[in-house]
Amino acid sequence: MSGIILPFDQFVLKIHSRCDLACDHCYVYEHADQSWRGRPKAMSVETAALAAERIAEHVEEHDVKNIHVVLHGGEPLLAGHDLLADIIRVLRERLDGICHLDLRIHTNGVTLDSRFCDLFAKNQIKVGISLDGDRIANDRHRLYANGRSSYDQVIKAIALLRARPEIYAGLLCTIDVANDPIAVYEALVALQPPRVDFLLPHATWDEPPPRPSATAYADWLITIFDRWQADGRPVPVRLFESVINTVQGRGSLSEAIGLEPTTLVVIETDGGYEQVDSLKVAFDGAPATGFDLAGHSLNEVAGHPGVRARQRGLDGLSATCRACPVVRSCGGGLYPHRFRDGSFDNPSVFCADLLALISHIRDNTAMINPANNHGMPAATYDALASGFGDGGDIETLARSQSSLQRMIVASLPDRPPAAWDLLVALDRDHRATLLTVLAHPYVRVWAATRAHAGPGYLANIAAAAAYRAGLSVRVPVAVTGGSVHLPTVGTFDEVPGDTATLVVEAGSAWIDGPATALIGTRRLRSGDFSVLLEDRDPNRDCHQWPAAATLGKADADAWQECFDPAWRLIESDYPAYAEGLRAGLSTIMPLAPAPAGKDVSSTARHAFGAVAAALPADPATLALLLIHEFQHVKLGALLDLFDLYDESDTTLYHAPWRQDPRPLEGLLQGTYAHIAVSDFWRVRRDRVTGPEQVRAREQYTLWRGHTEGAIETLSASGRLTVFGDRAVARMRRTVQGWES
Ligand code: SF4
Repeated sequence: MSGIILPFDQFVLKIHSRCDLACDHCYVYEHADQSWRGRPKAMSVETAALAAERIAEHVEEHDVKNIHVVLHGGEPLLAGHDLLADIIRVLRERLDGICHLDLRIHTNGVTLDSRFCDLFAKNQIKVGISLDGDRIANDRHRLYANGRSSYDQVIKAIALLRARPEIYAGLLCTIDVANDPIAVYEALVALQPPRVDFLLPHATWDEPPPRPSATAYADWLITIFDRWQADGRPVPVRLFESVINTVQGRGSLSEAIGLEPTTLVVIETDGGYEQVDSLKVAFDGAPATGFDLAGHSLNEVAGHPGVRARQRGLDGLSATCRACPVVRSCGGGLYPHRFRDGSFDNPSVFCADLLALISHIRDNTAMINPANNHGMPAATYDALASGFGDGGDIETLARSQSSLQRMIVASLPDRPPAAWDLLVALDRDHRATLLTVLAHPYVRVWAATRAHAGPGYLANIAAAAAYRAGLSVRVPVAVTGGSVHLPTVGTFDEVPGDTATLVVEAGSAWIDGPATALIGTRRLRSGDFSVLLEDRDPNRDCHQWPAAATLGKADADAWQECFDPAWRLIESDYPAYAEGLRAGLSTIMPLAPAPAGKDVSSTARHAFGAVAAALPADPATLALLLIHEFQHVKLGALLDLFDLYDESDTTLYHAPWRQDPRPLEGLLQGTYAHIAVSDFWRVRRDRVTGPEQVRAREQYTLWRGHTEGAIETLSASGRLTVFGDRAVARMRRTVQGWES
């Protein structure tokens, strides 16, 4: 990456290098680096002005729009009111107007007073306070040099900030696992901070942290995380939110987590540039760059090898981290924590804790796609990703589809006013009924593509809902191919023209003019389960294979004769799929007859809940087709919610079941579907005998091998997102759990 400058946008100004406390966990004074001893106590106004100048030239050159400047120490309030005011003035004077300056101060709070608060309020400076929890926790480390507690002063400072919420930034708590995590959590939450952050204590492999058990820090944090979740997340917690973000493919909020390159630089009281402050824990002089404000630009600092080492993302991590399942979230932990024997090429000294914490949070938070704000519990995501999903999981998918469908219909560009007014009234007074109609698979196909029926079809949808709701309305509806179709209700044939007036009156419907009577929809039934046999909808011919013409009675009866035993087979032999199918399979759409000896079936991306098939030769084949195709229905709905792969990827991949290479989505779809195909044959081996059993064994071996190979191709593609990686890992787990 030589030559490429990643501009800084976070600047820590050490404006006072001494502290009025003597906390024994402080990385400035209690660890290897002792460079503070040779520095001036306070940053001069001239140095602050030069810092502002260097920052200004840097943000102007790189067109940085937003920067964060933190006034830090030591203890920055020891600079005193007047010097602090002058430093703030020179920063604001030079930087306001050329970028958005987020100015903050991190303090121990013990000398915070109203005058400081006035200064901060006047200059829009937010104040973060270090507090380790309740009195017991705080006094374990945060003491004056004479051993006196700082707790009361800090609580007074926080009271001042609570009275000035516009400058209250939050609380920073350094973890000591000797403290009761719930007592710490409750004490912090009681102070109503806008944000809390938990900081791991600074340590290296050479100087490891106190560790009563292998995952003591994870256990401590997980206890708080679970309580925080149970409490409804009463305050934002930066560490937890960073983990949640990163496991869901978003950016981290903290340098402690994630793979984002660091863009932070420290400016010492004497004007020296340093790398991240916490490097002080590694060895004496570790943060030094040898550069200073007077002689060097920030570009020169950005090119420093130590800075660049923390900007290399995955490539900059140890081999152990690069192979780690949570690396995209963890990022190897805080850089200084990796130090061992003169090298940073190691996992974090908190590795076991980070792995346990991230895994726990990943498995106990809802999966939310930031792009569309739709999500689901992690357990639901994992159940679906593994190839299954019970009734509740499929209902979760169906609810999200319903929500998306409503959004699609609401954003239609050319809505006939009468139809739209009726839809709005239905949405207000009969929403459940309207949603039933909107959930019809080919309503979504129409709304998303409008390839078959024109804009006027919106009135047919509204009329169908009005009919089901028992309303009385007269509405102009669209005629398509000589028929008026009311989705989920039925069809009027032999209707002339492009539009007709439909009259709906308390459970009856007729066309105002010459037309046949309403022909109701038909259903395929087995016991208490039924699905729509959809052979009339004008939008149904959207599959890979052509739709069958409207079925005569004999053909419809043949479907019924095949469906009943097929469904009973699914319920008896494939209960892992039956519950999901029962919750999500709403429609079977007959395809035109397949060539002899060939089974033809299909799903369409927008037709959630529909499986299309040519009537197969026997019920077992229909059971297999339904189970197989419903996998595509599930994955399509999951893909509506989550980006599982890089859509810009144009690479074609080998799919073991095809001659031609496939794009990544095709490979993913096939793999997910063939989990169910393999499983079908796996179970069938023990249900049949003779030549059919031989065939089942052969088919299982064949499809399992294909599926395993495809899973590894997906995994090795390097083009899966965090969501995709997680899904493929669940698929692998399913297949590996089967006996051979
Ligand atoms: S959990 Fe451990 S191995 Fe994994 S990325 Fe983090 S530090 Fe590295």
